[in-house]
Formats: sequence, structure tokens, C-alpha cells
Amino acid sequence: MGATRLLLVDDEETLLDLLGKYLERLGYEVHACTSAAVALERFHSDPSGYALVLTDLTLPGMKGDAMLEQMRALNPSLRAILTSGYPYVPQSDYVSFLQKPFLPKMLAEEIRRRRCSASASPNRSRTSRQVAVRRSSCSRASPCRAWRRWMTADRRPLVAANWKMNKTNAEAEQFMREFLPRAEELTTSVDIVVCAPFTALRTVVETAGAYRISTGAQNMHEEDAGAFTGEVSAAMLLELGVEAVVLGHSERRRYFAETDAALARKVPKALEAGLLPILCVGETEAEREAGETERKLRQQVQADLAAVEVARLPEVVIAYEPIWAIGTGKTATPAQAQAAIAFVRALVGDRDSAAAQEVRILYGGSVDAGNAAELLGQEDIDGALVGGASLQPDSFLAIAAAAQP
Ligand code: PEP
Repeated sequence: MGATRLLLVDDEETLLDLLGKYLERLGYEVHACTSAAVALERFHSDPSGYALVLTDLTLPGMKGDAMLEQMRALNPSLRAILTSGYPYVPQSDYVSFLQKPFLPKMLAEEIRRRRCSASASPNRSRTSRQVAVRRSSCSRASPCRAWRRWMTADRRPLVAANWKMNKTNAEAEQFMREFLPRAEELTTSVDIVVCAPFTALRTVVETAGAYRISTGAQNMHEEDAGAFTGEVSAAMLLELGVEAVVLGHSERRRYFAETDAALARKVPKALEAGLLPILCVGETEAEREAGETERKLRQQVQADLAAVEVARLPEVVIAYEPIWAIGTGKTATPAQAQAAIAFVRALVGDRDSAAAQEVRILYGGSVDAGNAAELLGQEDIDGALVGGASLQPDSFLAIAAAAQP
């Protein structure tokens, strides 16, 4: 069966470009038009050729709903999505990206970034990292020539606070009120996510309000609903305005028997729901000492991402967290962290080399205000997942500042 043909109409060309690419990734054949007049002309020549029209209410010359009216007169079964209102949209036609709370923020940020880079001088400072990417997980000793192929990529830094089982609602609110105004400036170049306990999520979402700070949960069940006492579904998180979710944290693997098999279902479920999955992987001290680090990382990355389609791999954030460095004050050296993260990137490269360039990989394990700059200065490290040092606004702000490109 061929891809669904979709007519995308918007006068903002950058938006058109971004949404077009996004929709193509979702499997649509996208035909983009910058005005209602051009869209109508196309539609007239082949009224039954498009299964779906996606447009904005405020188009120049003619409103989106008026344009859809004319199209519907030619093809009454046309499905349509009007982004400033939903008068024509049957529930079954909602495209999942429009339900993603993070998407409008993501697009707004992306558009701003592109505009800045278009108007800046060629020698401007970058708003994201340009790094060399190891394209294969093959070891140096192996005959695999892909090891030697390198490429460049731009990735936006991300720092995530993992509060674990800390902070009541009142404490969460107090943190946010102090943190938000000071963090706002950093969000022009760094994505900041606060992963709070379930009980504080609503408070964090509401205090974050119009600030460009995202809220994350620390776990999620892969089923939509059912007899899973104590668990929370993606839909429940989305309803609160949560945008991200930490999955497979070593504490959940260790104390709550989280398995790779469950993560292989949770990661695609989070993506499908529109949540940003932050997948944690990492080795124990014994595994590192036994020279088993790469084997462990390979097993976790391959298993946990097995059901994520290649086109969506870049949307996953991976956090490399050596278990021996979590909450111990024993940080991996920058060289150790860089080597492990380059290896994780190469594992993604085994699935798809372009995805390996795009996927963001964080370091986590006793990151603090003192060691962040050196760790985050490593070429493959795109940010940090921060436990203890994220509980105080000052130290988390210092880490976010160190993540700036
Ligand atoms: C974490 O909880 O993911 C973590 C890295 O904790 P800490 O920064 O306290 O080591």
C-alpha cells in the first residue's frame, strides 16, 4: 500500500519544511503549498488524490476553514486537520504529532534557531554541537572499516534533572519559582527537562507555564490502562502536560526489576504517545572491571531500542549512566564517559548512520557544578542527566550553563 498523500498548507515556509519532514517520517507523502490559492489549484486537478489536508486557520487571502469548505465540496470524504481549531477533525484523524505538547515548543525553538543561523555571519558561534561521529560499534581490532568513517552533526544540548523520590509538591513549587526565571535565558540554546515524582508533576507543569522548560516523569507503564496497580500510563502523563519520561533508570532496573523486555515496549510506546523517552543504560562497577562495559551497553541499547523504527531513533534521548557513578560522588573521567558514549552512538549507527549523528546522548553519574564543563565539553556528550545536583537551583543552573554550546 502506498503512503497516504497529504496536502500541507501554510504560509510560513520554515514551518512547512519542518512539518513536512516530520510528516514524511510518519509515513505520509507530503505535498506542500504556501497559499490557499495554490493548494486549491492542486486540489482541483486531482480532488480524490489527497487523503488528508493539514492547514492553518490564518492563511493570507483566504482562511483555512474556507479553503477546506471548497475542497470538501469537491471531495466530501476528505479528512482535514485545521491547526487553530478542529471543526472538521473526526477523532480518528488526529495525527499524533498535533497531540504532542512538546511539538509546538520544539518547532518554535527550531524555527527561531534556523532564523538566527540564517541571519548570523558564517563565523557565528554555534547553537548546537558539531561533532565527529564514530559510525560503527565495531572494535578497533575488528576488520570493520566503518570504524574509520566519521561525519559531522548538529545536536542541541539537553540537561535533565532527575529528582528521584525527592520533593513534595510544595518543595517542587518552591524550586521552580526560584529556578525558572534564572533558567529562561539558557533555554535559547539548551533543552532543560525537570523529571519530578508523579505527585509533583502537575505542579511542575503549571509553574513552568510559558517558560521553555519541559516536565518529565521518571517511569511509565507500556499499556494504555488496566490492572497494573501503582503504575501510570503515557496518556495519564500527557494529560498533565508532561513531555518527557525517564525509562530504564538503573534504580528501576535494580530495585523494581525493570527488564530490557519491558523497555523494548516502553520506549516505542512513549514515542508513539508523543513523549520524549530518556533511556538510561550503563554498566556496574564489576562489569567495568571485568572489561564487560561494551558488552553490557550493546545488550541494553540493542534490546531496548529493538522495536523503535529507524526513522524515530533520533527522537530518543539516551543517557549513559555508569551505575558505579550514580549517587556515589565517583564520576567517570571525561575520557571514560566520552569513550562509552561514542560507543553507544556507534551502536545506534549500526542501525542507521544518520540516526547516530542526530541522537542525543547524555552522561549521568555524579555530575555537579564543578565537573560539568569538562564532561560536557567532550565531543560526543550532548548533555547530562543529573540526580543529586539537580535538587538545588544553583547547582542545576550551573550544570545547564555548562551545557551551552
Ligand atoms: C541519576 O539519578 O540519574 C544520577 C545520575 O544521579 P547522581 O547525579 O546523583 O549521580
